[in-house]
Amino acid sequence: MLQIDNLSAEIGGTKILDGLSLSVGAGEVHAIMGPNGAGKSTLAYVLGGRPGYEVTGGSVRFQGKDLLEMEPHERAAAGLFLGFQYPVEIPGVSNVQFLREALNAQRKERGEEPLTGGEFLKLAKEKAALLKLDMDMLKRHVNVGFSGGEKKRAEMVQMGILDPAFAVLDETDSGLDIDSLRVVGDGINAIMRQPEKGVLLITHYQRLLQVVQPDYVHILSQGRIVKTGSADLAHQLEAEGYDRVMAA
Ligand code: ADP
Ligand code: MG
Ligand code: MG
Repeated sequence: MLQIDNLSAEIGGTKILDGLSLSVGAGEVHAIMGPNGAGKSTLAYVLGGRPGYEVTGGSVRFQGKDLLEMEPHERAAAGLFLGFQYPVEIPGVSNVQFLREALNAQRKERGEEPLTGGEFLKLAKEKAALLKLDMDMLKRHVNVGFSGGEKKRAEMVQMGILDPAFAVLDETDSGLDIDSLRVVGDGINAIMRQPEKGVLLITHYQRLLQVVQPDYVHILSQGRIVKTGSADLAHQLEAEGYDRVMAA
């Protein structure tokens, strides 16, 4: 589904990604772990097409298409979802408005009819229930005054509504308590653990990977994948730390 070959990227002239290769097949969940500053978030931003991140080499194919040629909104309409470590607040816009606009913009791009207000609300209620998020939260302004856990649940509701083919989730577990972690992890499984979908899960911690069990674990260091293993690699990292595991 997603094939990254020898990808290099710079921010402001500084090389951050340095020959990164990674391939995710349909039905697979891949975890990316790595020390702070390794380039994990940069990879997520480059996949999303964020301005200021300059690709200087390599290629990314998504479902057979050249992802890097596509505009950010085209990537989203093609089924790529990005979940970020620090969700933005949008004062003055309710979650319901925001999510409906986002969904209908993507449907339009794909040549599909927009959902009516009633159809959308039914879908939103279903996904909010899945993430155990009160519908009242969705009527509030996007992320304004939300706790860390509520922001992540709201983001997973968004993912459920958009129903992407592929999700890149950057530290979705950061700042979550044990209960929220379980709800968010179960939500990721319910929405994304499907034979035709794929997931790149960026995390520092093993605990999310106990809920969303990865098929592969990669270590990203200094802008490239330096080691790949099974879920056991995450256990080993937790026990021994990056330096020892990478040196082995
Ligand atoms: P990670 O998510 O693995 O912790 P990042 O992708 O956030 O790492 O950062 C990788 C490197 O890129 C770090 O050295 C960081 O300081 C640098 N970096 C990130 N964003 C910027 C930026 N906007 N301008 C300059 N350097 C940046
Ligand atoms: Mg970091
Ligand atoms: Mg990061």
